[in-house]
Amino acid sequence: MEVEILVIGNEILIGKTKDTNSNWMAKRIAKYGHRLKRIIAIEDDIKVISTTLQTILERKPDIVITTGGLGPTFDDMTLAGVAKGLNRELEINQHAYKSIEKAYENAYKRGILKLEGMTKEREKMSYLPRGSIPLPNIRGTAPGVKLTEGDTTIFILPGVPSEMKVIFQNVVKPILKEKRGKFVEKGLFFIGIGESQIAPYVTRIENKYPLLWIKTHPRIGLSLEVELSITAFNVENGEEIAEQALDEIREIILGLNGKIRERK
Ligand code: ATP
Repeated sequence: MEVEILVIGNEILIGKTKDTNSNWMAKRIAKYGHRLKRIIAIEDDIKVISTTLQTILERKPDIVITTGGLGPTFDDMTLAGVAKGLNRELEINQHAYKSIEKAYENAYKRGILKLEGMTKEREKMSYLPRGSIPLPNIRGTAPGVKLTEGDTTIFILPGVPSEMKVIFQNVVKPILKEKRGKFVEKGLFFIGIGESQIAPYVTRIENKYPLLWIKTHPRIGLSLEVELSITAFNVENGEEIAEQALDEIREIILGLNGKIRERK
């Protein structure tokens, strides 16, 4: 499947918050053999959210995941932006309302929050775009949301990492697993040969194995270590082909008097 991630939040764009959510999701999307095509970060702005979502939907990905901007405050605009982008009304969702009410009730009873009951701001989180399925958020208050638009499934997840992760694990991961593809990732580290010296050899191996993606990544350090990684998406016998290519690369490195450190 093809996936796109839309990261929403002013605090990401001013460098206050580091976007770790998309990296965390990217690893899992790749692990189950799916292609993450884009990670886009945008500000909390209804128009920007709606037009960006529309542009993403034009590419017809199978899944779009948004993270951030689901909270109770006026600057959390994700749901309004998504509703506008899909040209749907925001309407109160009774399931969402009840789960938010319950979450605040629990927090009040446990002494975590001093303000009891539903307020306008708390209610705001239960207004979802028409057709939404609320996704329980056991780590927080704002539920996630699942929507379908054409052949695309949209997951709207909170920004708080623990909340995003629990909804991802419970709802998104099973879908990734069910439709899983094959993803292979192998590699090694070497020293004594620069990236530019090995580049023509890597190109040769890449031409020989066009289904593999072979990449070198320089790692800054005293020894000028270079990491070489091979990835393959949905390649028949990908594991063996990647191992075969890696063997050939090992020979090349040793032939050029480089030193290899195998990856664990
Ligand atoms: P909730 O509704 O659960 O309060 P939210 O969807 O409103 O969450 P935001 O208000 O966007 O989330 O962000 C809340 C906090 O979550 C941020 O201050 C930041 O600490 C963290 N956060 C937000 N986005 C990200 C991200 N992409 N990566 C890592 N942390 C993030």
